[in-house]
Formats: sequence, structure tokens, C-alpha cells
Amino acid sequence: MSVRVGIVVTGTEVLTGRVVDRNGPWLAERLRELGIDVAHNVIVGDRPQDVRDALGWLAGAGMDLIITSGGLGPTEDDLTAQVVGDFQGRPLALDEALEGRIWAILERLMSRWPDLDQEAIRRSNRKQALVPDGATVLEPVGTAPGLVVPPRDGVAGPTIVVLPGPPRELQPMWAVAVETDAFRTAAAGATVYRQHMLRLFGIPESEIANTMLKAREAGIDLDALEITTCLRRGEVEVVTRYEPPQEDVYEAFAALVAERHPRDLFSTDGTSVDQQVATLLKDSGRTIATAESCTGGLVAGRLTDLAGSSAYVLGGVIVYSNEAKTALAGVDASLIASFGAVSVEVAEALADGARAALGADVGIGITGVAGPDGGTEDKPVGTVCFSVSTGDGARITRRLQLPGNRFDVRDRSTTVALHLVRRILLGQSDG
Ligand code: ATP
Ligand code: MG
Repeated sequence: MSVRVGIVVTGTEVLTGRVVDRNGPWLAERLRELGIDVAHNVIVGDRPQDVRDALGWLAGAGMDLIITSGGLGPTEDDLTAQVVGDFQGRPLALDEALEGRIWAILERLMSRWPDLDQEAIRRSNRKQALVPDGATVLEPVGTAPGLVVPPRDGVAGPTIVVLPGPPRELQPMWAVAVETDAFRTAAAGATVYRQHMLRLFGIPESEIANTMLKAREAGIDLDALEITTCLRRGEVEVVTRYEPPQEDVYEAFAALVAERHPRDLFSTDGTSVDQQVATLLKDSGRTIATAESCTGGLVAGRLTDLAGSSAYVLGGVIVYSNEAKTALAGVDASLIASFGAVSVEVAEALADGARAALGADVGIGITGVAGPDGGTEDKPVGTVCFSVSTGDGARITRRLQLPGNRFDVRDRSTTVALHLVRRILLGQSDG
């Protein structure tokens, strides 16, 4: 039997989207590593009744474990501990030793603000030290302690793990929570799942649907696997989850994908194209530079986002105007006049110019129409020209028509650029 888990993320700011939920997905991933299935991630506002309803609904749906995030702070609207204690039928009582430990943390913090109202802080301190009877306390990472609150003896129901909202507090506290006896008891009997991700670039999602049909025709029992495909940043991600005895079925499926999409399947171990480019550059000791027009430095941003990138990213120029293309990337003004700023000729000159400007081994040039008012009949919005070139004469150049709004076009362009870099580093150049 597998253990079923629900997550309750609290916070009006998360419900409205002002803050993007980083806790639900993060917890789901950690639970999956423990072989535990997340059935629901419910986001509710900071109203006690809504939190109570979410707990009631998840308990009614048969969850063995519920994890909450947020609402442990010192202010009046932070009520999660109270709501969970009530829900489990475990009255709250002041834990004086805990109160003392929180006070010690607060004293350290307060030394920076000597004028604060100490009595008000004492009161909120006391609120954070109220612990449901029989709960396990998780020591504060910030000032709020977490809790593991089991159902009362003899009562069927979920164990509830109560964690603070700030991700930098929740994450270390999670590591402590999973080691508690109360958590282990609730999670006992978890089925261990395996999960693998295949990543493809250059094919539409429908092609994977087709491959899945072929897999069934070939007698591969896809029903033994849980396969989800998702199109993200122009790449198709195929995530497969299965129980260990189904390993052979997964291997057969993965082999069929590889056979049908040899060029498009670029990652079988979940690594991103960014990581692959980083490794290829590092291993070959080569450096890279960019000259970007419509992407405004986003490619350079992605390249510099990885640990160790200073070893191979030299830098880049943003060359939005024609003048900048000439002054900063050395593009011949007559080339722009003849072919237009958005052209494969200018993309090639940008790639070469980026290399020359910084003495890099690999150059990337991008020029296109991302904005809503920049298009023309033969170069509509979404027309983007890419070129990557190397000092030893290899080059890949593409002109693509990308769908979507400005954000989509720019975002997709960064992915295309990284894939062209990957291909040139693997020796798959055009000429
Ligand atoms: P605090 O003591 O900081 O009040 P708390 O447990 O009461 O802790 P919240 O008030 O719910 O936590 O959230 C504090 C801050 O943490 C939020 O303003 C938000 O920036 C961040 N945060 C909370 N929940 C999430 C979430 N699900 N994803 C990302 N950030 C979050
Ligand atoms: Mg709060």
C-alpha cells in the first residue's frame, strides 16, 4: 500500500500569485525521493476556516500525511499551529523551555533595534511557543518552531507536519522533520518509486504521443508506467514514474524513444541543456561570448547562471540598435543595409563579432523580432535568426519562426541558442 500525502500551502500572497509557491513543488520532489506520492497541493489564504477546510477535505480523501507551509509567524493572522492542534483534538499549551529558546533567538535579533517594545515581543514569542499536546517540536530555523502532530491514539487520521513559510526556513526544517519518530511512523510502508526524465528538442509534443502508440503496438506495457509529457521552453520533457519491478518496461520504452528520435533526444538522465553546454565547454577548455539583439542578454544570463560559469563565459554584448551592432560587435553597416538587421547574415556577423571582441572560442549571435510592433510581412513577430561559430571554422545558422508573445519568443530563443551551442560543441556543425 502506498502512503498518500497532501500539501497545504497557506498564504494570501501565494493564493493571489504575488509570491510564487516554492514550497509545494519542493516538498513534492523531496517526498518523491522518499518514495511517497503527493496526491494534492492545496493553496489557501490566511483564513483559519480555509485552512481547516483544506485539512478536513484532505483527511476525508484518505491522506496519511499532510504537510502545511506558512502561518507560523508571530502576528495575529499566523494561526496554523492553533488550527492544526484543534483539528487533531490536541489542545495547545505553553512549552516554557521552547519559549526560552525562541527568546534567546529574539534577543540576538533585537540587539540591532534597541527601541523595540520588549513586552509586545514577549507576547508574540509566547504565541510561537504554544505546542499541541503530544506534538513533536521542530527547532526554529528562523524564530518559528515547526511541529509534527499525529492523530490522537486510537483515532484514524493523518499525521500533520507543520512547517514555516519562508523557503530558507522550511527546507532545513524538513530534513529534521523526516527523521522524527512521528514522521517515520506515518510514512512507514511507502512504496519506493523510480522516476526518470527524458528531454527532447526539435519535435512537437504530438510526436511523443505517436511514439507511445508505437510502443503499445510493439507490446510494451505502458500501463505499468506513469508517463507524463510536458512542453517547456520549447523542449519536450517525458517524465516516467514506476515501481522497481517495472524497470524492464521502462528500459524498453526509453530504448524505443531513443530509436525513434535519435537526434532530438538530448538528455536521458534529466540533465538540462544548460548543464550539458557547461560540461562540454569546461571539458574542452573552450570559452564563449554572445552578441544579442532581441534577447537582450538573456542567453548570457542563462549561461552565467550555473556554478563555475566564470571559467568559460567571457561575457557578451547587447546590440539592440544597428549602431550598437556595428560599434560593439563589429557588424559591417553595409551588411545591415543590404540584408536588414534581422537576417542570417547579420546573425553570423554577430557570432563572429562576439568572438572577435572577446577572443572567445565560441560565439553566439541572435537577432530577431520579439516585440509586437517590430514585424514586417516577410519578417513577422517571432522571426529570429541564430548563429553559432567557432574559431576553427565550424558554424550553425538557423532562421526560425517562434510562436507566442514577447516573453515566449525571447525565452524560446534562449533555449534554441543553447541547443545550437551544444550541437556545435558535439561537432554537428552545418558545414
Ligand atoms: P514568518 O515568521 O516569516 O511570518 P510564517 O511561517 O508565518 O513565517 P508566512 O508568513 O506564511 O510564514 O510567510 C513568510 C514569507 O515567506 C512570505 O512573505 C513569503 O515571502 C515566503 N513564503 C511563504 N510561503 C511561501 C511559499 N509557498 N513559496 C514561496 N515563498 C513563501
Ligand atoms: Mg507570517
